[in-house]
Amino acid sequence: MTKNNISKLSDCYGCGVCSAVCPVNIIDIKESKDGFYTPVINDNDRCINCGLCLKSCSFDRDIRYDGSVKEAFASWSDNQQVRYEASSGGAAFELAKAALKEGYKFCGVRYDAGKQRAEHYICSTEDELKASLGSKYIPSFTEYAFKELLSPAAKNEKYMVVGTPCQIASLRLAVKRLKREDNFILVDFFCHGVPSLKVWDRYLAETPSIQHLDFRWRDKKNGWHDSWYVIGHDNSGKELYRSPGMSKDLFYAFFLRHYALSPCCLKSCKFKIANSSADIRLGDLWGDKYKDYNDGVSGILCLTDKGLSLVRQTPHLTLTEETPGIVAQGQMSKNARKPASYLLARQLLRHTKLKLKHIKILIEKYDFAANLPGKIISKTKLKKR
Ligand SMILES: Cc1cc2nc3c(=O)[nH]c(=O)nc-3n(C[C@H](O)[C@H](O)[C@H](O)COP(=O)(O)OP(=O)(O)OC[C@H]3O[C@@H](n4cnc5c(N)ncnc54)[C@H](O)[C@@H]3O)c2cc1C
Repeated sequence: MTKNNISKLSDCYGCGVCSAVCPVNIIDIKESKDGFYTPVINDNDRCINCGLCLKSCSFDRDIRYDGSVKEAFASWSDNQQVRYEASSGGAAFELAKAALKEGYKFCGVRYDAGKQRAEHYICSTEDELKASLGSKYIPSFTEYAFKELLSPAAKNEKYMVVGTPCQIASLRLAVKRLKREDNFILVDFFCHGVPSLKVWDRYLAETPSIQHLDFRWRDKKNGWHDSWYVIGHDNSGKELYRSPGMSKDLFYAFFLRHYALSPCCLKSCKFKIANSSADIRLGDLWGDKYKDYNDGVSGILCLTDKGLSLVRQTPHLTLTEETPGIVAQGQMSKNARKPASYLLARQLLRHTKLKLKHIKILIEKYDFAANLPGKIISKTKLKKR
């Protein structure tokens, strides 16, 4: 019999909130064969048809945003080390530190070098917070942390949570339903999309001796504008691996050229620019006005009074009021464009043992051939003019 649960969905963002709200604990979050997190019902007969998983699913719900913003800022941490290690200007870290002082716990993402995976975790000290610094450009596993956040035992706790816009949109639905919105500060970011763990696994396997290192995905040694380096380091922070930089690095080729983004990021993202369920949206402030700032600038959109109040009262955070347009300049306003070779890339990643560099050559050739007719037509049109 069809149950009123997420088994009805053929696709989803993999945010994991359905698993956290299920009262009979029958939803596990697993990795799909394409390297994305996905919910799996472990015993459909035990489903009680409450529908809570679907009610907390930002993929399934028709969420509409009016894109309104209370205030917008350019910002950075006054602590140079924090600003250096953060992806943008370090605003996420300073906001989290301020929230901890206000009695909130923090839930964000760290990298587990043993499992070679990123995961949401919960912490309550500044020392523990450090693991959240910097973006981990792979999907994060949320199940255990989100179960803890939403558990009845945590009903009197306050949390600041940072996550992708889809994770945060589902969490908003869940905390609203639990009437615990007052206890949460939700923070998301402008999101390019998340790449497949298949790419990350191959990248690790194919690069000599970088297994089980700790990683940073951005590094500002050459400045913020040229910070797309994957850095492997040991526990003490000593650098043991440096990728060749954005244009030559295979991980970034697959991530930034969309070959291995989740299909939902390509076709079903509802969260561009100011479309957000968060209290605060962060991002890299890439626009013209800050192009000469090379230490990193965070863009901040305050979407609720609660978000604005935290931003305004956070110490050690330089703030300059800007328009939302300036803060969002350079961000994607539409879903990432699907390359012609997307399905081929997916098949090659799923079914072959080909190395990433060989897959990249094949898909680039495919894209070249697929785009050729368009190129010829536009050249012909130009000549005719
Ligand atoms: C997959 C992905 C795509 C992104 N795309 C864009 C984009 O298109 N444009 C843009 O301006 N910014 C994007 N960002 C956000 C950007 O990289 C910075 O995280 C953001 O600007 C905040 O930076 P910061 O300097 O304030 O703090 P940082 O210290 O860099 O903060 C990182 C925060 O993000 C959280 N986090 C880290 N990894 C993940 C993850 N995998 N999933 C969920 N949360 C995570 C951490 O808990 C931390 O709180 C993206 C981030 C990710 C993870």
